[in-house]
Amino acid sequence: MNVPNKFPELERIDKITHRFKKLGVNFEREVLSTIDYKGKEYPVHGFVIGSKDTSVPTFGLFGGVHGLEKIGTHIILNYLSSLSYRVSMNDFVKKAFESVRFVSIPMVNPVGVRHNKRGNGNGVDLMRNSPTEAVGKKIPFASGHRKSSKIWWYQGRKGVLEKESETLINFVKEQMFSSEFSMALDVHSGFGMKDRVWYPYSKTADSFPDEKKAVMFKRLMKLINPFHIYHVEPQSDSYLIDGDLWDYMYDLQHFNPKYSGTFLPWTLEMGSWSWVKKNPFQLFQATGLFHPIKPHRVKRTMRRHWWLLDFFTNSVANHENWEKLIK
Ligand SMILES: [Zn+2]
Repeated sequence: MNVPNKFPELERIDKITHRFKKLGVNFEREVLSTIDYKGKEYPVHGFVIGSKDTSVPTFGLFGGVHGLEKIGTHIILNYLSSLSYRVSMNDFVKKAFESVRFVSIPMVNPVGVRHNKRGNGNGVDLMRNSPTEAVGKKIPFASGHRKSSKIWWYQGRKGVLEKESETLINFVKEQMFSSEFSMALDVHSGFGMKDRVWYPYSKTADSFPDEKKAVMFKRLMKLINPFHIYHVEPQSDSYLIDGDLWDYMYDLQHFNPKYSGTFLPWTLEMGSWSWVKKNPFQLFQATGLFHPIKPHRVKRTMRRHWWLLDFFTNSVANHENWEKLIK
């Protein structure tokens, strides 16, 4: 029989849950699924904060898809924690949650986070695991492959969705697809020197149907904060991948006439190579390329992206205003 588990990220989730429960806003935290790995249980938690009406504007924040990139999970947990304090201290914030929703899975791949693995317990790279196939110039292995679970970027067996992928898809479907306007931000680290904010597609260099809206959002970002640090671009500008879960979910929502709202999935890819450049010792540590090691750099990374998360939250809540303003 599998036994429940304990590790820092799970304990943090429990603490934050405890605080939210006392705040008088609608709050749910649910164990969406449980992953069994080597005799232990790894819960995947989903948070829903704010209005119960799934048609209102919704911001979804996701992390820990690649377990090694645990800084993403930490950034989200810090944001959730801060949000809990702000809800209790700031009536404007509390009031806002009556008409918007904030949803989150801070740790999509708990086995990976706990054991410093990119993939899940089966060695599958969840961000290569959906049924979509890329068309265009792919990078051998890194764009996704089905050769062996021992090699990074393994997509898993054809036609088989991993439990974590299924959990994420079902949660996004239930919590975001029916919204009049929703944006997701999936937090990653480990590619390049710059901090990038990517919009779809990653399966093709062709534009995605909501490209115009994504570009409007990019302009809004520049208007609100002309000195922001992000390179905002389609993911396909960097590389193409097979099996991207967000491409898959975007198509699922966009091409289903049942849903009339806009669903824009974004990825924050923190350029962690600069962490290594400044601290080459990181190369020799398991999580080195993907997680800043020196405490001051962890703090700096937390601070650096704070603005972006607030900007997404505010932009989702006020989407009608900027959609009218920006042409
Ligand atoms: Zn990643």
